Amino acid sequence: MSTVYDIFKKTLGLLSKYRLPPTPEHYSLWYVYVSEENPELNRALDQTLAKSDELGPSSAALLYQAHLADSRWRDTQGLNDSLQALTQELSSTLQDTRQDTAQFQRALNERFARLSGIEDGNISLDTLMDEVRNLVKDAKWMNGSADHLQSRLSTAEDEVSRLKEALAKSREEALVDVLTGLRNRRAFDMELASMTGPVSLILLDLDHFKAVNDNYGHLLGDQVLKATARQISLFLKDEALAFRFGGEEFAVLVDAPLAVARRKAESLRSLIAKVTVTDKRTGQKIDKITASLGVAQGQGGESSIQLVDKADALLYEAKRLGRNRVMPLSL
Ligand code: GH3
Ligand code: MG
Ligand code: MG
Repeated sequence: MSTVYDIFKKTLGLLSKYRLPPTPEHYSLWYVYVSEENPELNRALDQTLAKSDELGPSSAALLYQAHLADSRWRDTQGLNDSLQALTQELSSTLQDTRQDTAQFQRALNERFARLSGIEDGNISLDTLMDEVRNLVKDAKWMNGSADHLQSRLSTAEDEVSRLKEALAKSREEALVDVLTGLRNRRAFDMELASMTGPVSLILLDLDHFKAVNDNYGHLLGDQVLKATARQISLFLKDEALAFRFGGEEFAVLVDAPLAVARRKAESLRSLIAKVTVTDKRTGQKIDKITASLGVAQGQGGESSIQLVDKADALLYEAKRLGRNRVMPLSL
């Protein structure tokens, strides 16, 4: 059974052996390979290496996508723990080396002092000179090797802190939707799971969004999603959390009773109706963007799936009744 630190050293070794930049993805790839957590990855990687004993960034990216992309979140958790272990290990090794060097220096000085004090004839001048030469050589070697070790260790320390930063960033990124900058679905699930007590959920789905894409193109569709997200964030400020729930669906968690959440939903509906996006190439303006919304309150204790189902059923009802509206109609 390998220890975390063993796995770690091997991971660092493979990273440098195959000269891959130490990104979190490359790191995860080798880490999971060494820890043999994912037999399919090991088979695929072994096959790649069997061909040429090389692993370029593009093969690494393919392997990562095929075997690790989905479990990225889980892996970064484990990696971060191990990074901490390694940082500690490295710092103490570095300290040990510094102490060793200092000790050696002291011993050396003593020997020189002794040698220079030899005056009686038991030792020939030639032998004495040889001894001195050897000592000087040893001392140089020892100092050089200690220096080398020290610089290797501090490089490794730098590398580890760089990796830690990269991992922290990738963990953050794992919770953010790239297009809109809102929190993503994973963040939503985590947030809801950690909430205790009553909470209200607004689910918001843009109306006939497929038609927006069909009429203006996907890129402009993306612009509409961004503008909608911006409008939602500006309105909510810090009073509620906004998420991109799915393609053209957004979710808002409000730490307030249903009536308050419903009022917010109504404001969101009318604000989104004011969103406009202009096609820079054609000057065409998209300004008939509307959304349907469902609002539900969780009792705390009921499962988050039930709360989402409740809001989703009301959202569906809003669509069925003609869209551009909030359900329940009134309280
Ligand atoms: P409804 O009023 O019933 O919600 O109709 P709809 O057309 O909005 O709903 P539907 O579920 O049929 O289509 C949703 C569309 O949203 C289809 C999909 O291409 C589009 N979409 C999802 N994600 C994105 C995205 O990131 N960018 C763009 N441009 N379009 C997206
Ligand atoms: Mg939808
Ligand atoms: Mg829709």
